[in-house]
Amino acid sequence: MRLCRFGAGRLGVVDGDSVRDVTAALDALPCYRYPLPCADVFIAHLEALAPRIRVLAASAPALPLAGLTLLSPVANPGKLIAAPVNYQKHLDEVRADPNLHHQAPIPVIQRAGLFLKATSSLAGPGEGIALRKLDRRNDHEVELACVIGRRASHVSRDRALEHVAGYTIGLDITIRGPEERSLRKSPDTYSILGPWLVTPDEIDDPGQLGIRLSVNGSLRQSSNTSDLLLGIPELIEYASSFYTLAPGDVIFSGTPEGVGPIRPGDVITAAIDGIGAMEVRVRAA
Ligand code: MN
Repeated sequence: MRLCRFGAGRLGVVDGDSVRDVTAALDALPCYRYPLPCADVFIAHLEALAPRIRVLAASAPALPLAGLTLLSPVANPGKLIAAPVNYQKHLDEVRADPNLHHQAPIPVIQRAGLFLKATSSLAGPGEGIALRKLDRRNDHEVELACVIGRRASHVSRDRALEHVAGYTIGLDITIRGPEERSLRKSPDTYSILGPWLVTPDEIDDPGQLGIRLSVNGSLRQSSNTSDLLLGIPELIEYASSFYTLAPGDVIFSGTPEGVGPIRPGDVITAAIDGIGAMEVRVRAA
């Protein structure tokens, strides 16, 4: 199943070039009073809601996908976790280019660990990217993103994929410079997820997916998730050894080589095999 969010917070099932509006399925979600849970309520209940979503989708009118403003398929993640330099060729290009490493040592991911992006940086492809610090270099990074479906703490790599709710395309937009990654990668709209969430039954192996990004039609990044240094199971094992993963938490798995600058007016196209493609417009904040 391919689940999207669009418009004013509506929920849809993607069916070819159209979307079936299944927003009514959200009526079954529990209501909360303050304090709210630190997890995405929809993702936490996705398995329970799935039968109702399928029934609604069968009779909902088909909306043309092209006319919809797509939002992030996860609305309220508790954590946006990201893997730095998780492809060998990207590690090589960062170490070779002073514009990328800024005189900081770039250790391998097994030493660097993971970092967090602010959840307020999250936006959908239809909302676009609003660039800040235009006097500095802002780069695109396309990444396979995994959405956690079940609470996970100290999970081994062989049980890791049981905790996945689905996969989506992530853009980890980055201001280059000397500050901590969590600051440079956290302005509003610097974490894009989309175009939809693909449930794991549609992805045989998240470690065998072609991944591409182009800017204004010219190809900048092209790789395969088979080149990840730590794959999705290893990332879940590693992350869950430090903290509990909650439903809706997102893991950006890292970007392959070919990162480069973007400017206001650019149009990014990002695609991952088995998920789809999304177009994202870039503007000045
Ligand atoms: Mn990244």
